[in-house]
Amino acid sequence: MAGIYLHIPFCKQACSYCNFYFLTRDQLRQPFVDALIEEIKSYRDKPFSAQKIRTIYFGGGTPSLLTSAQLSDILTVLDDVFDVESDETTIEMNPDDVSKEYLHQLKNLGFTRVSMGVQSFDPDLLSFMNRAHTKDEAVRALELIRETGFSSFTADLIYGNPGQSLQALEKDIDRLLSFDPPHISAYSLTIEPKTRLGKQVELGRIQPPEDDTVEAHFTLVQDKLRMAGLQRYEVSNFSKPGKEAVHNSNYWKHVNYLGLGPSAHSLLWNKNGARRWRNRPDIKPYLEKNWDSLQDEVEDLTLTTLAEERLMLGLRTVSGITTEELSGKYGYKLNDRQRDWLRIQEERNCVFMQKIDNEQSELRLTEKGLKLADYIVLELISRGEN
Ligand code: SF4
Repeated sequence: MAGIYLHIPFCKQACSYCNFYFLTRDQLRQPFVDALIEEIKSYRDKPFSAQKIRTIYFGGGTPSLLTSAQLSDILTVLDDVFDVESDETTIEMNPDDVSKEYLHQLKNLGFTRVSMGVQSFDPDLLSFMNRAHTKDEAVRALELIRETGFSSFTADLIYGNPGQSLQALEKDIDRLLSFDPPHISAYSLTIEPKTRLGKQVELGRIQPPEDDTVEAHFTLVQDKLRMAGLQRYEVSNFSKPGKEAVHNSNYWKHVNYLGLGPSAHSLLWNKNGARRWRNRPDIKPYLEKNWDSLQDEVEDLTLTTLAEERLMLGLRTVSGITTEELSGKYGYKLNDRQRDWLRIQEERNCVFMQKIDNEQSELRLTEKGLKLADYIVLELISRGEN
């Protein structure tokens, strides 16, 4: 079983906080689609083409800048090259690209899930973020998504913005919840050095909020979403029961995934562990279709490295991890030092451990522990070293 991620690197304009790989030159869209189709074909009869593809995710950038005809061409070639039996086919969209007709076309193409980049409904914040959409477009897009009737949809929300009050955040959350979304991804604004926002902070023109303020924002988000029946199942993701994002959850479980398009990452298991690589974030070699020179950051991961990563990712999710998975999939066993340390964390109400039988235990972080996830996981891993 595997997933496919397609990176569509086009945006109308640069959001002030964004450090994803994207371009604003729309004349390159069709040449890019042609190259993407060639990249997909280059995987014909390679190890990935033997995998059953259960999830497909169009991310970016802004995939909704592609026409339905372009998306249809891509999906047709995917179907032709891979063994596709997708349970979840997601497309990221921005509200300003949504129309009733386009959504129906996407549904007819087989998209089951839409991920809407709302971020906020507050006109001042949208302008601060340099988003291309307005509040009214966000409202209209969510109305249309509900009417179209996808199996699921999700919306992104950003909190912890400079100058954002708790009242303003509450208004954003309430408005978003009025559309009864089955899933929400809520992110604290991160300030990346090479972005426009990062430069303004560096110049002292913008003051990032204090940690206490961001924590109060997060608590408000979590409490309001919980009351609306959306449980936090991972650091930034909240869903109604059974509406968790399958594609993204599979990254945390090291399910094989193939990334297509510039800057996309891939992971494929082999007999020694797994290989992970990235397509270079550069449209020029991509359009030259020289696939062999496109890959960089190639890493061969041992089972121990994968197990430590799984611990790191799994303990950031509410369902945690079982020792059975660690030993069965990665051959990794917790030693006495690690078990003793976990018991101490259990007494501190940071870790929840439940014995399944004499050999196996379920391990997860409590709400208190999730706030200290980085520390707990790093200490746990360091005690596994000889
Ligand atoms: S639309 Fe998304 S990918 Fe594009 S600049 Fe904005 S945040 Fe980045």
